[in-house]
This record gives sequence, structure tokens and C-alpha cells, in this order.
Amino acid sequence: MKITELKGIGEKYAQLLGRLSVYTVEDLVGLYPRDYELYQEPAFISTLSPDYENTNVVIDGVVSKKIDVYHTGKLAVISTFINDENGDRIKCTWFNMPFLKSSLKLGMRYIFRGRFVIKNGIKILEQPQMYTRSQYSEIEGTMQPIYPLTKGLSNKTVANAVHQALEKFDAGLEKEYIPGYVRQKNELAEHNYAVVNIHFPKSMEDYIQARKRLAFEEFFLFVLAVRSLRNSNERIPNGYIIQNDSRTDDFIEKLPFSLTNGQKSAWTEVKKNMSGKGLMSRLIQGDVGSGKTIIAVLALMNTAYAGYQSAMMVPTEVLAKQQYDSITKMFNNMGVELNVSLLVGSMTAAAKRKVYEDIENGSTDIVIGTHAVIQEKVIFKNLALVITDEQHRFGVNQRRDLSDKGNNPHILVMSATPIPRTLAIIVYGDLDISVIDELPAERLPIKNCVVDESYRPNAYKFIENQVHAGRQAYVICPMVEDSENIEAENVIDYAKKLSGELPDDIKVEYLHGKMKASQKNEIMEKFSKNEINVLVSTTVIEVGVNVPNATVMMVENAERFGLAQLHQLRGRVGRGGFQSYCIFVSGNKSKKTKDRLEILNKTNDGFKIAEEDLKLRGPGDFFGVRQSGDFDFGIADIYTDAKVLKSASEAAGEVLDKDPELELEENRYLAEKVSEYTVKCLEKLNI
Ligand code: ADP
Ligand code: MG
Repeated sequence: MKITELKGIGEKYAQLLGRLSVYTVEDLVGLYPRDYELYQEPAFISTLSPDYENTNVVIDGVVSKKIDVYHTGKLAVISTFINDENGDRIKCTWFNMPFLKSSLKLGMRYIFRGRFVIKNGIKILEQPQMYTRSQYSEIEGTMQPIYPLTKGLSNKTVANAVHQALEKFDAGLEKEYIPGYVRQKNELAEHNYAVVNIHFPKSMEDYIQARKRLAFEEFFLFVLAVRSLRNSNERIPNGYIIQNDSRTDDFIEKLPFSLTNGQKSAWTEVKKNMSGKGLMSRLIQGDVGSGKTIIAVLALMNTAYAGYQSAMMVPTEVLAKQQYDSITKMFNNMGVELNVSLLVGSMTAAAKRKVYEDIENGSTDIVIGTHAVIQEKVIFKNLALVITDEQHRFGVNQRRDLSDKGNNPHILVMSATPIPRTLAIIVYGDLDISVIDELPAERLPIKNCVVDESYRPNAYKFIENQVHAGRQAYVICPMVEDSENIEAENVIDYAKKLSGELPDDIKVEYLHGKMKASQKNEIMEKFSKNEINVLVSTTVIEVGVNVPNATVMMVENAERFGLAQLHQLRGRVGRGGFQSYCIFVSGNKSKKTKDRLEILNKTNDGFKIAEEDLKLRGPGDFFGVRQSGDFDFGIADIYTDAKVLKSASEAAGEVLDKDPELELEENRYLAEKVSEYTVKCLEKLNI
């Protein structure tokens, strides 16, 4: 129903409401108050301490002084004093409201509600609203809504319109659609009750109940919508049925290690997807070092053996090069005869051209590269699988561009960002998830310490000993260049300094983001061959670099990094059979910093760290991929309502277990709501 059907809402107001995306009466009811005005019990004037300044206060008082009217400039000011029951006095002032003079008679009693200030030691109520006692008793204790507004639109206009919409037209009201058992278990109010009470709660308790219900239903519908999207994804027929190949099984047999149970179950799920009826779109989530790469390699192999091409996209050249080297080495060692090509930005034009040709004519089976892989010039002959590694480093669009290269290829994404499971539902809602929740068994847990700068000489001595025992070390500095206000260590200077501190036989090199890709590759290659013993670096090495011989990770200015990032950095060591160590050096001695770093000290479990980090920082910068704005729920907040999200997604699971397609009569309204919501979701995610 059009908004202009409401009394008092003409074209002008309709236009203004349009700016708030309100076009229909239903939209209006969906415009939730951004805050509430509390009509509290009248206070005694003596209790008004300076703490109350600039807040609205309520006084039950009698006009105790003759009304004074004067002008300052063009402003007409009315002022008087009122006394409360105890005989205390407060001044009241009104600007430009001369008509008040008639109702403000000496000796009259009113409830005054206005902004409290203190000027020259005098307590003042500014612009107070006046109510008779019976008028006020009707609203006392209620919370009046404060709506998001736009210039020209008053709160009163909106509130009146909402009131009408609810009372006269039952807008936004509907049959209860959350199953009774879900409501009971989660102690949820009814939908209609919640809608009315979110606008006009009669008490704080009513408001809390209303909000809880609405937040729950937002999450609940979201999760159901996402699941139904995923189901429809599954229904995209699998155009590339890829059966498991016995040569891949042989390869697994010949690996120098056996797969962990986590790896085995992830691999089983991937195989099942790729040979099944529907397209695969799966996320493999596993902590750093859990061995995700091998799963990717197995999927690439099966695809090639089935006669199709596949591509793996990684976020940096260093990593692309490393993945390429390790895969080709593995293939050579184990007699796998597949053609693997590397494609990165720093290659010469001629080299690139050759790779483009090979990809187009099908002589390349597997392409490994950076975003160069998604450039226009790359034309695949028969792309059937795309893998993105370190998913969180890519935008959703890049991922989509890559899959657009083929004709609905299978999608596998890998991420070490240990997003708490509850949030993963939202961030990766459109993907199935396999979690590798264990590290290879022979790994020794990394030993951690958090120290201050005075510990540096000991740390250097420690590195020296490790290098002399044949191991290698990383030292991480936060910035490349000195910045005036930040006392970050400069990578180049630091490397020079460190080199001076360590014996001459220890080779120290540095790596930073501003170096040319080819230079970076060269350094990384040398480091992986142990021709460089100590690598001083910025966080460019954070992502996925694998040098199992490195056993020390020393992080300078650790307080500057997020916990998840520090955890990633720490993941660069402890990747082989040697005991590894992580030294977090913090220049900041504040308790908060200490507490934060202590979390890392206490646990090596990425999921736990992520939860703690989330608690400390909020979700804002948690989502590398989709910014939190993408999930702007109307009222729910994925951070503060994390518990509600969890119970809502559990409830959604329960409902779907009973009725996977939502086709039972009892779920009829729910099914309608979900499909409505799914359409909205798709628009929002721009799919
Ligand atoms: P990530 O999950 O961080 O990408 P990688 O796939 O790079 O981890 O694996 C880290 C290291 O662990 C590699 O050297 C890899 O060869 C090794 N690895 C993988 N799986 C196993 C396993 N099941 N047992 C022992 N080592 C393994
Ligand atoms: Mg990896």
C-alpha cells in the first residue's frame, strides 16, 4: 500500500520518506526507531547533579514566579521558576513560544520535561514540554521512538504515520511463521507483538522482548535463505563429472606422510562433490599448517586426469611461485605427468604469451598464478575447477571473475582465517564448508613468549644458536619506511643492524612489499634453499609461505598487529618436524596490549584466537572479504547478537532437518517468508 494513503502524508512527505527508502506502508513499519526517548518518573530538583547536564529530565512542579518575557535580538524569551514538592527551585526558559504565557499561570502544577543545564550556578530546564498529571501518567514509563529522519521530516510526523500504519492498516503484521517449538525453546515473543513493541514499547522489558524476537527472525530467515540458495547451487547441474582416478590414489599412497583424519574427510567431501550431480562450491577452512594445499593438489590432479583444465589463484607472486615449485617438484618426484604452468604479472610478455597459448590450446593442465590468471587474455580450453587459496585475501568479485572464465566450473576456496563457525555461516554463506580441525600429528606445538625490548639481545643469541643448529629464522618489522610518529623499525636498517649483531657466517636478508616481484621471488627462493639464514621482512610473508626448516618467528612491535595476523605469522614456523619458537616483542607495556598478546601466548588454536580477537575488536575489520556493511541487518548486529545468531542458525538447522524443502503445511508461511527474503538477499549481495 502506498505511503500516501496515510493521513498527514502527502506528496511532500512521501518524497522525504523516499530518501529513507520508505515507499510503502510496510516499508514504514520496517523503519525501526534508532533510539528511544524515555519518559521517566519525575525527579526531585535536588537530585539533579551536573551529571545530568544536557539530558532530558522530568520535574513535577508548580509555577512559583511571575512569567518574565524579554527579547534578545529577535528571540522572544519566556522564563519562570518552578518549585517541586520539597520546595527546591529550578528555572525554566522557552524561546519563541510567546503563546505559552497564557498557560503558565502562577500556582499551576505541571509535569515539565526538558533539557537540563546549569548556567552561572543556576539550574535551568530548557524548552520543557508541559503535561498535566493525567496526560503524563499515560506516557510515564514508556519509551517513545526516535526515528531516523531527513531534513524537513519531523519525528512526530513519522511516529504518527507509523502509529496509523499499525493501528488502521495492520501493516507489517502477519501470521506467526516461526514454528511454535522454536519460539518456545528460544523464548521468543510473537511477530506482531514484536513489531508493535519495537515502535511503541510500553516498558523496557517490552522493548527487550521485541528486539530479541526481531533480531532472531532476521538471522533465522537469513540462514534459511542462504541454505536454500546453497541448495539451488547444488542444483546447478554438474557439467564436469570428475571421478576419482586411481593414479591420484597411488599418489596419496606414495606421499611421505599419511593424510590426517581432517584432510581425509575434506578430500572425501571434495571427491563426492566433483563426481556428484551438482556443482561443487566448497570452502576448506583449516588453520595454518593444517595441510590444505595437498587437498587442492589432489583435486587438480583428478580434474586433469578427467581431461579438464584447472586453475589455482593465490594472492601473491611469492606464494604463486612457491606453490608452483612445490607442486612441480612433487609431480616430478612421484612421476606425475601433468603440465603445470605458472602465470604471474612479473613474467616477460613473451613468457606470458606462451602460457596463454598453452592454456588456450589445452596443452596446459593446471595453471597456478596470481590475479594475472583472471585477466582478459587468458582463455581456457575447458576449465572445470578453480581454486582460490588464502581466500580472505581476495574480493568476492575476483573469485567470481575466475569462475566466470569457465562455464560453471567447480569452485574450491581455501582459507586459514579461522572464522568462528557462527560467523562463517554469514561470511561464506553460499559455500559448503569442510573444516580441517587438526594439525599433522608429528608437529610439536610452537613455544611462545611475549617479551619487551630489553629481551632483544637474548632473542638474537637464540636465533644464532638455532641457525648454527641448521635452522632458519624470520624477523618481522611492521613498516618499510620511517614514519614520523611511528617508531616502527625499518626493515632495511633493521636487517643491517641485525647482521652486525650476528656472527658473520649468518646470512641476513630483507624482504618488503615495495620490492619488485622478481626480487622477492629470488629472495624467497634463496631462503627456501637455506642460502639465507635469517629473513627480515614485513608482513608480505604472512600469507602461506612454507619453509619447514624455519623454526624461529620473531615479531617486533607485536602490539601493532591484529591477533589473527600474528597467528598467521606464527604459522610460518612449526611447519616441519623441528621444535619451533615464536617471540613476540612488544614496545608497549600497557595492560591491554599485554592481555591481547597473552591470548596468543596461551593458545595455538586459531579458532580460539579468532573468537577472542572478535570479542576485543568487534567484527568491523574481521571480514577481509565482505565488509560488515554487506550484512546490514535491520536490527540485528552480528557482533552484539552473536548468541542470537547462533541459536537462530541452530533453529534453522532443526527446522530443515524436519522439513528440508519447507513443504509441510505447518511451514507454509515460513516458506513464503524465506523466499521473499531470499530475493532481498540476492539483491543485497548483488548476485
Ligand atoms: P596450509 O594449510 O597452511 O596451507 P600447507 O598445505 O602449506 O598448510 O602444509 C604445511 C606443511 O605440512 C607442508 O610442508 C606439507 O607438506 C605438510 N603436510 C601436509 N599434510 C601433512 C600430513 N598429513 N602430515 C605431515 N605433513 C603434512
Ligand atoms: Mg596454504
